[in-house]
Amino acid sequence: MADAPDPGEIEGLLRDLVAIPSVNPALGEGNEAAIARFAADWLRSRGLSAAVEEVEPGRANVHAEVGVGGPDLCLYGHLDTVSVRGMTGDPYGASLREGRVYGRGAHDMKGGVAAVMSAAAALAAAGIPRGRLSVALLCDEEWKSIGADAYVRRHHPDACILTEPTDGQLEVTHKGFIWLEVVTRGRAAHGSRWDLGVSAIAGMAPVVSALDAFDRDVLRRREAPLVGPASLHCALIEGGTGVSTYADTCRLQVERRLLPAEDPELASAEIGAVVRAACPDAEVRPYFARTGLVGDATTRVAVAVREAAAGVTGREPDVVGAGGWTDAAVFSAAGVPSVLFGASGAGAHETEEWADLASVVRLARILAEAARRFWG
Ligand SMILES: [Zn+2]
Repeated sequence: MADAPDPGEIEGLLRDLVAIPSVNPALGEGNEAAIARFAADWLRSRGLSAAVEEVEPGRANVHAEVGVGGPDLCLYGHLDTVSVRGMTGDPYGASLREGRVYGRGAHDMKGGVAAVMSAAAALAAAGIPRGRLSVALLCDEEWKSIGADAYVRRHHPDACILTEPTDGQLEVTHKGFIWLEVVTRGRAAHGSRWDLGVSAIAGMAPVVSALDAFDRDVLRRREAPLVGPASLHCALIEGGTGVSTYADTCRLQVERRLLPAEDPELASAEIGAVVRAACPDAEVRPYFARTGLVGDATTRVAVAVREAAAGVTGREPDVVGAGGWTDAAVFSAAGVPSVLFGASGAGAHETEEWADLASVVRLARILAEAARRFWG
């Protein structure tokens, strides 16, 4: 097929992308500016209109598009990687051995970015009779997702395929989460002054027990299809100033994993009630929340991916859900039906990382085919 993504081009593109450092500045030294410029130039040279959109100084998304009218299908990849600390090989070597491209971000997720870019180039070259393709290559997925938040404020595609590495599975739903801080107060006093001192740590003890029981007895029995149960854990605790001083403050940080459709505010209120039943004076402060991805395999975009994957590989992809949160939830919360479908490889966030090149080539073909089916 003249308009199919070209395997040789994909290999070169993936190796070029891996060779450009794009460590998230919250996790190490670097940013996404250079790779964003490279991707925008590459897409422009293939006939798309592409722009680097600054999100914060040094932090940039790329938006590219081709075609007119609708429906508008968005293909997503994130440009940032985690740090390169402790990696065994050259993180930017982009060497190819036995069908694997090695380097930081090869798997998570420059393979997906390369597939998106080459699928977009193939579609642009073939011409799009009706419908529009948007390409979203975003910053900061590995930290606070400022790239995704900024993108959905500016752009409103009709659906999105996020190419995080899913090993050829179609992920249609995942969990959200909330982070909360619980604070108990005591009264500081010299360690000998049992008559004056009140330990805030002792005040936290029944809170920890109550939260643990709430997780075991209530949350683990609350389940949603494909993702398993809700859960909660006491993640961090600190209190006290010295062994001879009654602790005046104790701080506990709690993470609650939300079922895809659970409301963060209701979940926070529920935790507040559990905490106050155990310790009436405790303070509960939710400080960060992300809703989950609500979806199933029957949306138009999910059907397009299923049919395209079946056409290219000869079998329908497995439909799965996951515990981990992704930018798909940001698109979904903005009213954009979204699914995750990506390539294979290993070593995300580990000391050796690689992408399976054949699966990246296959992904590019499936994306191009899914777009054609989505436009109808
Ligand atoms: Zn990722």
